[in-house]
Amino acid sequence: MYALVPGGSRGIGRAVCVKLAKMGYNVLINYMSNDAAAEETLAMVRAEGTDGELLKFDVSDAEASKHALEAWQAAHEGEYIEVLVNNAGIRKDNLLVFMEPDDFQRVLTTNLFSFYNVTHPLIESMIRHKYGRIVNMASLSGLKGLPGQCNYSAAKGGLIAATKALAQEVARKNITVNAVAPGFVKTDMVEGLDEAELKGQIPMRRFGEAEEVANLVGFLASKEAGYITGEVININGGLYS
Ligand code: NAP
Repeated sequence: MYALVPGGSRGIGRAVCVKLAKMGYNVLINYMSNDAAAEETLAMVRAEGTDGELLKFDVSDAEASKHALEAWQAAHEGEYIEVLVNNAGIRKDNLLVFMEPDDFQRVLTTNLFSFYNVTHPLIESMIRHKYGRIVNMASLSGLKGLPGQCNYSAAKGGLIAATKALAQEVARKNITVNAVAPGFVKTDMVEGLDEAELKGQIPMRRFGEAEEVANLVGFLASKEAGYITGEVININGGLYS
């Protein structure tokens, strides 16, 4: 049983890799550049008694993604990736008035176009095998919109809409497609945010842990969650619903 986690080297993605390993999956860890972190995640996956593989490619690059996934498939005849957690993401915050075109574009290609780049090469085999679980890592920003994040909100909002559309396309093939929308989660991505100030706005008075998000992803990726599809599940300590 194979699962692919784009952005699996660090943060939420790493915790998801470990969770899927605990569930018995052989985990394919995608990442962009941080070899040391990816190796560490692989060791954590193996410590759960299953195996894993590093798949380094830029999910914002359609050709690179297709090439890497086709190469994996060619090397694993008869196998298929049944769980996909589209988690890779970046943010480049700025008020729109100051935002450079490249910062808008990079965030869209990495957080949204990556959904197409990675899901498209895999969806056909899920359909053929009549089973699949896709979980897309959205954000509170994609539901509510956050100032300073027009790019990120647009990308995550688009991802949520794509989740709902694809869910309806593949439901009868026993493939579920859901999104998870975290609030503030303690990872490298929130470095530089003023946690002491922000947590005052969160009813639970704390940032979330990557493992808490991973537990939710694990449930959505499980067989037990088979009748949940096209949903966006908030995980934000009560910040917004
Ligand atoms: P993170 O700690 O910054 O980790 C980002 C991961 O994405 C890393 O594994 C990174 O690989 C990978 N990545 C970035 N660009 C990539 C690319 N072009 N191709 C392949 N991999 C790429 O982030 P995080 O906080 O865990 O966030 C994970 C997801 O949750 C993101 O989609 C983020 O938008 C979403 N999210 C996070 C929060 C939060 O508060 N943390 C809240 C809501 C939503 P390298 O290690 O190689 O750089």
